[in-house]
Amino acid sequence: MKEGTIFNIQKFSLHDGPGIRTTVFFKGCPLKCLWCANPESQSFEKQILIDHDQCVHCLACVHTCPNHAIHVIDHMIKIDHHHCTSCLTCANTCPRHALSIEGDTKTIEEITNLCLQDIDFYEESGGGVTLSGGEAMSQPFFLKELVSSLKEHKIHIAIETTGYINDTLFKELAPLFDLILFDIKHHSSKMHKVGTGVSNELILSNLKWALEQKLNIIIRIPVIPDYNDSLDDARQFADTLSHLQANQIQLLPFHQYGEKKYELLNLSYHYKNKKALYEEDLKDYLEVFIEKGLNCYI
Ligand code: SF4
Ligand code: SF4
Repeated sequence: MKEGTIFNIQKFSLHDGPGIRTTVFFKGCPLKCLWCANPESQSFEKQILIDHDQCVHCLACVHTCPNHAIHVIDHMIKIDHHHCTSCLTCANTCPRHALSIEGDTKTIEEITNLCLQDIDFYEESGGGVTLSGGEAMSQPFFLKELVSSLKEHKIHIAIETTGYINDTLFKELAPLFDLILFDIKHHSSKMHKVGTGVSNELILSNLKWALEQKLNIIIRIPVIPDYNDSLDDARQFADTLSHLQANQIQLLPFHQYGEKKYELLNLSYHYKNKKALYEEDLKDYLEVFIEKGLNCYI
């Protein structure tokens, strides 16, 4: 039986496609965006989280870890992720429930059954299921089987993708979806690499192909302070997307919902304390796309 690594299943989701949806978050991503709101999505492995606010330094976890993967550094509990096997002994030992695991293996049947619980809501609202991440296409065999299982029940299926997938695989997977939410982080390949760790050529070439096939695509641009938020950035995005004959573009203002997760994962956060952006901050930015004749909204 096929299993996938999932880090969250969110019911009654309203921002990942039309209507009421269930969003299934796949764990693991080929990009490492500096502003990522779901840092737990980046690693393909399960990860132990520590809530330092709950820890009373009893050291029970340090003593019980069978792999000696927990250490005290600067008076704080730290997990050595190279030696941790996600056995959960520490989480079960901790008297304060300060340790938890991020990521779980799920079968096709488990996810399908969970999604089916809300099928009446999907039908009434024009919703369905969105496969998000991380990058769901990075678990291609599991993804294909899950899509085919959901399709047996005639559920509308969307995918949220980075587009950073081998082109042969992308051409096989993309047409399976009723809607593709395709993220573009930067118009310049050099800057794309600075912000995400990878260049944008493969992403733009997959996007070009998908648009040529007339797949149903909403292009989404996360607008990030001091990265891609200038009016010149807006003009260059608009030029690129107009050239590709894109017809639906959504701007996603930068937010800080993920900040606490960096702490729990003991990761440094490049955008710590950076001010969030709101719809009113992006009025001029949006206008650049509209003036170019693009169907763009926030
Ligand atoms: S999950 Fe297991 S291996 Fe990992 S830190 Fe906890 S006790 Fe150690
Ligand atoms: S067992 Fe829990 S409370 Fe004790 S040191 Fe470990 S994380 Fe802190």
